Amino acid sequence: GTFAEIDLGEALGRNVGRCGYVRPTPVQRHAIPISLAGRDLMACAQTGSGKTAAFCFPIISGVLRNRSSSSQQGAYRGARTACPVALIMSPTRELASQIHVEAKKFAFQTGVKVVVAYGGASMYQQLRDLEKGVDILVATPGRLVDLVERARVSLQNIKYLALDEADRMLDMGFEPQIRKIVEQMDMPPPGIRQTMLFSATFPQEIQRLASDFLSNYIFLAV
Ligand code: AMP
Repeated sequence: GTFAEIDLGEALGRNVGRCGYVRPTPVQRHAIPISLAGRDLMACAQTGSGKTAAFCFPIISGVLRNRSSSSQQGAYRGARTACPVALIMSPTRELASQIHVEAKKFAFQTGVKVVVAYGGASMYQQLRDLEKGVDILVATPGRLVDLVERARVSLQNIKYLALDEADRMLDMGFEPQIRKIVEQMDMPPPGIRQTMLFSATFPQEIQRLASDFLSNYIFLAV
C-alpha cells in the first residue's frame, strides 16, 4: 500500500509527499490506522522503523480535526500558561529535537504549532516559544515537570499523548516524572485522552505502564 490509501487529510497528505514518503513502513502501516480510529496503542518498534511518523501523523490529523470543530487555537489558560492538546515525551534532548524537526515538516502550513522543551538548556527561549502558542509539545520528562510546576504548561487539555522510547525513559530513571505528568492529565474533569506507547522492548515495567496509562489498547509488534 501507499500513503494515498490512508486518509490523512489534504494538508498532512501533501506534507507526507513533500517529505518523499510514498510507502508506509510496517509500523506506520499498522499503527496509523489504529490511532486514526481513536484506539490506544502499545507498539514495540525499534529506532529507524519510522515510528516518529507513526505517532506524529495521527496526532497532527487529530489536532486538525479538533480544530475545525472548536475555536481554541494554541490555547492559553491565563496569560502565560500554555495548554497544548498533544504531548510527545522523549527520553533525551537529541531525540526530542529530532522529533520536533520532523513534526514541524509534517505540520508545515497547517497552522499546527509544535514546540520543543528539554532540559540541559536555557528555559528562556522555550518559554518564549510556549508563549506564542502550542498545539503539540515535544518534551523530556524532567523539563516538563518543571514547566508544569511553574504553571507555564497545563496538561488539562491533552487529548493525544505519545511516549517514545518508553523503555529508555525508564532506564534513565524517569518513571516518577512520567507518572506525575500522566496524573496531571487524569485530574478532574477527566478529559478524553488517546495514548500511544512506543518501546523497543516489552519488559514487565513497560507492561505495567501500558496497563496503567492505556485503556483497551491494541498491542503491535513489528
Ligand atoms: P524514525 O524511525 O522515525 O526515526 O525514522 C527513520 C528514518 O526513516 C527517518 O529519516 C525518516 O524520515 C525516514 N522515514 C520514516 N518513514 C518513512 C517512509 N514511510 N518512507 C521513507 N522514509 C521514511
